Parts: sequence; C-alpha cells; structure tokens
Amino acid sequence: MTLATLADVLGPALSGGYAVAGLVVLGWEDARAYVDAAESEGLPVILQAGPGCRRHTPLEVLAAMFKTLGNSAGVPVVAHLDHATSIKECRHAIDCGFTSVMFDGSHFPLEQNIELTAEAAQVAHSAGVSCEGEIGIVGHSGGKTSSSTVPDEAEQFARSTGIDAMAISVGNLHLQRAPSATIELDRIRAVESVVNIPLVLHGGSGIDTKMRQRLAAETAVCKFNIGTELRMVFGKALRSAMKKDPNRFDRVEILKETEEPVRETTRSIIRSIGPQRLSQPN
Ligand SMILES: [Zn+2]
Repeated sequence: MTLATLADVLGPALSGGYAVAGLVVLGWEDARAYVDAAESEGLPVILQAGPGCRRHTPLEVLAAMFKTLGNSAGVPVVAHLDHATSIKECRHAIDCGFTSVMFDGSHFPLEQNIELTAEAAQVAHSAGVSCEGEIGIVGHSGGKTSSSTVPDEAEQFARSTGIDAMAISVGNLHLQRAPSATIELDRIRAVESVVNIPLVLHGGSGIDTKMRQRLAAETAVCKFNIGTELRMVFGKALRSAMKKDPNRFDRVEILKETEEPVRETTRSIIRSIGPQRLSQPN
C-alpha cells in the first residue's frame, strides 16, 4: 500500500465515530513497532516526525523510512510532519515525500495564524498532501502555558485556512507523564458545533484511556498525538535490557527487546480509540 494522506484516514474516522493515533517517532525501532501494531489491529496509523526527531535525523531519512514502512504495510500509513514552524519546512517535507504537514502558527495573533496556515494548506493541497493547523495554544507540562481554543476563532480559522484537521486546546497538555489532564468537554462540543473538520488533540499521553475512548466515539476528535507514553515504555524496556546482561554491547540485540513492549502498548492505544467492534452475540 502507498502512503495515505491525513484526509484519507481522518474522513472515515469522523464519519465512523473513532480516532486514529498520531504516534511520535524517534527512530526506526519505534516506527516499525507502530506499523506492526497497526497491522495487527487492522487499523490505520499516523507516523509523526516532530521537532525532536528532526533535530536527530534528517527529514530525507525519515521520509524514506516512513515510505518503506507504508509501502509494505497492509493498512493505511500516513507520513506526517509535526509542528512545522515555516512554510519552507513544509515544502521540504512534501518534497521528501511526506503526505501530511502540520503548520503550527498557534503562537501568532489570529490573523497571522490564518494567513500562514492558509498558505501552508495551499502548498500542501497543490501537492496532494494534507495539512493540520492549530488554534489556541497547547502548552507543555512544566513549560509553555496553554491558551484554550475560542470556538468563534476556531470557526473562522477552519473556514479561512482550508485545513484538513484542526488541533485545539481544551485542557490537553504536551509531555504529561501521567493521565492527569482535565478535558473541557463543553469546549469541544462548542467547537464541533461550528466546525465540520476532524479535530486533533496533542498531548494524548496526558488523557486517560477511558476519556480518549469516549472522545473518539462521541466527538469530532479524530486524532490523538501520543509520544511521552510510548517513549516511557521504550525507555523502560531499554533500561531493563541493559541491566539484564551488562556484557552485552551489540545495539541491535539490545534494541530488539524494546520491540514487543512498544508494539503491545501501541496495539492497545490504537484499539481503544479505533472503531468499537460489536461483541458477538451468544
Ligand atoms: Zn504537539
């Protein structure tokens, strides 16, 4: 299967009442485990290259990695650029083969955010690629403060930019190590009543499983970005692999032990927000 766009996977999610996981990739091991998990569940997955990942690995390498995984997968895989801060960065990702870009203009005043995001969406669409924008500010745990999305602004933002998906700030927070976010359900309801595109929640690790499941089934939230939760599973598995045999030095051998825990956690994330299968009648 060739890589899918964000619109390809979020359209059916919006009409079908489920969500797709946008998973933060840091390297080959986690990317491969995410796609394995998606294939086991028979559901799509969004591989995300965020700023941390891009500082470590060139975009060309990440694109080749995502394409290789997507082309051999039996489920839709999206190659998504997360938190781009310039149009140049979006163009570069599209040239490399990414099928989705997120332009983050959330820190700009509304007019400027609209102007830049609309340009990013136009650049993306003319290449057959999807675009995600952000309105309101999703802060960082212990860092940047959040600013909740104002429904009227969200309506104007979605209408004027032509984006395919909209990230909103409703109590979600980046980099949370425990599910401690209090989600403003009323605000989501107010936004979805004036906007008809899929909504995205960054900071998915901070939202407990039941709430993620509920939002996926009952609201227009169709994508949860999840990084910290999976990075913690990876780190823990790596630490225990190192401890198990202090003489071991081959990194492929060591890293192999991260695969199963990352894959299994990913499977349960993807399954819990995916379409809820009806239980078999007795
Ligand atoms: Zn984010």
